[in-house]
Amino acid sequence: MICKNIGINEKGHLTFAGRDTVELAAKYGTPLYLLDEERVRENCRVYKNALSRELGEASLPLYAGKALCVKDVYRIMREEKMGIDVVSCGEIFTAWSAGFPMENAYFHGNNKTDEDVRFAFEKGVGCFVCDNEEELCAIEREAAERNTVQKVLIRVAPGIDPHTHKAISTGSIDSKFGTAIETGQAMELVSLALSKKHVALAGLHCHIGSQIFETQPFCDAADIMLRFMAEIKKEMGCTLTELNLGGGIGVRYLESHPEIDVDGYITEVAAHIKSAAKALSFPLPAIRLEPGRSIVADAGMTLYSAGAVKRIPGFKNYLSVDGGMADNPRYALYQSPYTVEIANKMNEEKTFVCTVAGRCCESGDMIQENVPLPEPERGDTVAVCTTGAYNYAMASNYNRLPRPPMITLTANGEHIAVKRESLEDLIRNEL
Ligand SMILES: *Cc1c(COP(=O)(O)O)cnc(C)c1O
Repeated sequence: MICKNIGINEKGHLTFAGRDTVELAAKYGTPLYLLDEERVRENCRVYKNALSRELGEASLPLYAGKALCVKDVYRIMREEKMGIDVVSCGEIFTAWSAGFPMENAYFHGNNKTDEDVRFAFEKGVGCFVCDNEEELCAIEREAAERNTVQKVLIRVAPGIDPHTHKAISTGSIDSKFGTAIETGQAMELVSLALSKKHVALAGLHCHIGSQIFETQPFCDAADIMLRFMAEIKKEMGCTLTELNLGGGIGVRYLESHPEIDVDGYITEVAAHIKSAAKALSFPLPAIRLEPGRSIVADAGMTLYSAGAVKRIPGFKNYLSVDGGMADNPRYALYQSPYTVEIANKMNEEKTFVCTVAGRCCESGDMIQENVPLPEPERGDTVAVCTTGAYNYAMASNYNRLPRPPMITLTANGEHIAVKRESLEDLIRNEL
């Protein structure tokens, strides 16, 4: 199994977090999102423990809420004493509504509006990750009006391609995010930030990409960032104390993907950071990481009911399910790989190779292609694994499909984290 929270019980049914998924589908209906709370907690603890052990108590993982932004997840983040990364008023409001301590929130985005800036101040967001000059000036204005000083990091484009893992000088300089070191613009923005009375520049941020399986890209990014911090110290006489290396550690979606040892990964990157700082005689900054996917992906599963089974002789087979791109647009968007199972036939031979298709009126609406499954029948429970990240978060009402509910499976029970949308919900804003 691709994750240890998935198994098969004596009935030959797929289990998730120790529960019979066929029974859960019957109880709550489909499509259905499941969330394994204990798995979310374990994933948080791996980051927290490894960071504090290797880099000291000042380090902190920030959960990137864009992966799955619901109040129930922020409750867990609050209880696990994680920081968070938020990207909009909507995410800020969701976290705040869940009672999350907003001083541990970092506000991201390449185009925060004046209203966004004001709202973040109002809700007490602890740190802005400042993308550009306009934003810096907007923060200064708002902080001056409130007669306070706002902590900020500056987002820098280090010029790393995480998938060829090479430091390339052009790669991300043309990114819409951050300010490039190469062009001298990052140094100018640092200088401007240091001149602002109501801005306290604590450090730098970078985010090099997603679904990264190797440590080298992070080590390269850390090198570039630390060198730049040493240069700032030399040129501006200012020693920055915080370095945020972003998110992006990969997740296992298929049996063929490597298993990721996040603890070992962090240990390796931390050793590199410590020696790089030492070589530069730069005091070790407080490190932040921003995992999103690797906190929630394998804590999620989606259940569907099988519908039409279509055999086109000499061509291909289809199995259609009662959801699709509206609850999981990732195959349609990026051909993302997923493991699909028929939850009530786990011990049967996989003789039916098919495309698992969604129910939307769109031929690109697929969950996965070339999936070997047992012979499916209408009414079977179809499970898609590792859907905790960027599924509910990216769900839409396309084709006027109500969004599925999310059930949180806890150590000693379960609860509805998000209820199923009704048809009435679909027309609620229509006057
Ligand atoms: C998307 C994003 C993350 C999270 O990335 P994952 O691949 O989900 O870990 C973290 N930080 C920033 C700035 C991001 O844009």
